[in-house]
Amino acid sequence: MKKALSMVLIGLLLVGLVAVSGCADSTETEASENEVPVYIVGTEPTFPPFEMTDDSGAIIGFDIDLINAIAEDQDFEVQVQSIGFDALIPAIQSGNIDLIASGMTITEAREEEIDFSEPYIEAGLAIAVAADNDDIESVDDLQDLVAAAQIGSTGHAKAQELVDAGVLSEVKTFASVDVVMMELVNGGVDVVINDMPVTQAYINQQPGVIKIAGEKLESESYGFAVRSGNEELLTMINTGLQNVIEDGTYDEIQTKYFS
Ligand code: GLN
Repeated sequence: MKKALSMVLIGLLLVGLVAVSGCADSTETEASENEVPVYIVGTEPTFPPFEMTDDSGAIIGFDIDLINAIAEDQDFEVQVQSIGFDALIPAIQSGNIDLIASGMTITEAREEEIDFSEPYIEAGLAIAVAADNDDIESVDDLQDLVAAAQIGSTGHAKAQELVDAGVLSEVKTFASVDVVMMELVNGGVDVVINDMPVTQAYINQQPGVIKIAGEKLESESYGFAVRSGNEELLTMINTGLQNVIEDGTYDEIQTKYFS
């Protein structure tokens, strides 16, 4: 009887020990969970529905939700910072930011300076004109016209190409897309060359003022970008992207911003 009791006591003691060490374990896990890496994400937030500001000034959008979903999947956190589009690549090179999530088109020229993730969405360039302008159906109708584009964008590059080819007479560049659109609305330029889904979002906000003329000019894919050689972060982004596509999160985000 005495022996049986002491066996029970030893048993209880063991359970107690396991419980205590279990506790110690979970405290340790919690501590390391609090120390997840925080990466600074740069974005130019006049690019709806990919990145824009809400009424409180917070940066929201498709890219922001997607990079947050990837971060959650891969156990890191992001802090989003507003940066001029043409300053994003210099900012990542100087180490001021770790990641670009800014509707940035994957181009060969940029691949020389930064490393892109796998493409996460397809977009493309379009010509926009005033809603009452029925003269323009394609690039061939742009002879001697003045265009506006966002500085450093692929729309800017396309417009410059058309200036160099003797088609457009001039391209005026502006730091943000809202100003580019305002320039068209105010009649300061004849056309805008910008990413089609973004121009469509501006049209949706203010129907009947501007419209898309003709077909998509060029097909492009967006990628997230990291500093050249930052394989660790790039792998996390690509793996996380794959996971959020497979588990349906990507589709939810797409429905939220494109329906
Ligand atoms: N997709 C275009 C580019 O990469 C424009 C991006 C943007 O203005 N945010 O140049």
